[in-house]
Amino acid sequence: MTRTVDVAIVGAGAAGIAAARRLAGTGLRVVMIEAADRLGGRAWTRTVEGHPLDLGCAWLHSGDRNPWTGIATDRGLAVDRTPPPWGEQAGDRNFTPAEQAEADDAIAAFQRRLRDLPADRDAASDALEAGNPWNGLLQAVSGYVNGAALERVSARDHVAYDDADTGVNWRVREGMGAAIVDAAAGLDIVTGTRVTAIDLPAGGVRLETSAGPVEARAAILTVATDVLASAALRLPRALDHKREAAADLPLGLADKIVFALDGPAGFEADTQAVGNPRSAETGSYHLRPFGRPLIEGFYGGIAARMLHGLGEAGAIAFALDELAGLFGTEIRRRLRPILRTDWTAVPFVGGAYSHALPGRSAARAVLAAPVEGRLFFAGEACSAVDFTAAHGAHATGTAAAGAALAALGQGM
Ligand SMILES: Cc1cc2nc3c(=O)[nH]c(=O)nc-3n(C[C@H](O)[C@H](O)[C@H](O)COP(=O)(O)OP(=O)(O)OC[C@H]3O[C@@H](n4cnc5c(N)ncnc54)[C@H](O)[C@@H]3O)c2cc1C
Repeated sequence: MTRTVDVAIVGAGAAGIAAARRLAGTGLRVVMIEAADRLGGRAWTRTVEGHPLDLGCAWLHSGDRNPWTGIATDRGLAVDRTPPPWGEQAGDRNFTPAEQAEADDAIAAFQRRLRDLPADRDAASDALEAGNPWNGLLQAVSGYVNGAALERVSARDHVAYDDADTGVNWRVREGMGAAIVDAAAGLDIVTGTRVTAIDLPAGGVRLETSAGPVEARAAILTVATDVLASAALRLPRALDHKREAAADLPLGLADKIVFALDGPAGFEADTQAVGNPRSAETGSYHLRPFGRPLIEGFYGGIAARMLHGLGEAGAIAFALDELAGLFGTEIRRRLRPILRTDWTAVPFVGGAYSHALPGRSAARAVLAAPVEGRLFFAGEACSAVDFTAAHGAHATGTAAAGAALAALGQGM
């Protein structure tokens, strides 16, 4: 049987949930269709051994202007304002204060060169200095930030995010994924239902789904770029430019390995150490996040790809070797892996977050542009400046919902 609604939202991640919240209470019939059996997409908190662990987003980036900060607070969740320990090296292990100062200078100089690149050079790697001893660290940082090697990242895109970032980063004690999913309470959501095709018949949108067709006056499509660029969801040929834009904004890689730490002794809460500050193939280790007996390794870009190639046991062994290199071999006896992510294997997502390929930063606007006042696009990749992040996803979801309302003659 065909279901008929005013607005169909494809995907119940941060963007879809934000869009549905914007449309709630307008009197429109709205349904959110989610392929997975859970909500949240890349916002995903799992409780392991009593600890709420974020597999995806964990930080309220630009927390002082991030809408999820207020939403989490309003819903009674605890926003933690402890500053992140990024850029610190606990105990100066394997990284002397003088080297850290040199590395900080190298990062600052790299960021200046990124801004000064000539118009015809847009690979972020063009701003590297041949032979600079901190190029590995710069690649590791690109891994965390972009999920990709600098050679694969548009310099203009990279700078746009940096310029918009307020530098304030907070967390949600109960988990950021949990906060985003909690915000979906009361919305009309169908899970375990995949949208396989979207057509634009006169006056509306028709969605083929694994549970039958849905006819809508408007639809908001929020799937990740790698999903959109693949053949998993069929769009009319006239929308090939959307698929091409999505392909210009591929998902990078970012993954986590979390260890339970037997006894907190020797580790200060909420500190950090980089495994090898001279290599791109390294992780950053958040020690005792929230004071919990945990060490959380984070790997992006080149390092995440390398871990992916090592498989589960190899990735964990790599992390243990890095931690033993930092804290001595005795640490091995105190660590037990309790979580490892592989976002390439997460169905209906397939990666971490979008980065624009060199020369392709304009693809974000192409992807975000509405089609004929009835098909709207949202999701982190559609944000002009807050891409990669859940607040960007929120902004694009809210904007798409507002545009859909206006198109349906209900602009408010
Ligand atoms: C390891 C990691 C760390 C991160 N850290 C941070 C962080 O600290 N702070 C931050 O702000 N952001 C972070 N992010 C990014 C953040 O999680 C994402 O930007 C955000 O969650 C994306 O939301 P979205 O709604 O755009 O996309 P998604 O979350 O991908 O939502 C899209 C939804 O569409 C569904 N879907 C796909 N195909 C179909 C289909 N055919 N039919 C129906 N449904 C479909 C998917 O299942 C998914 O639920 C991180 C991400 C990762 C992976």
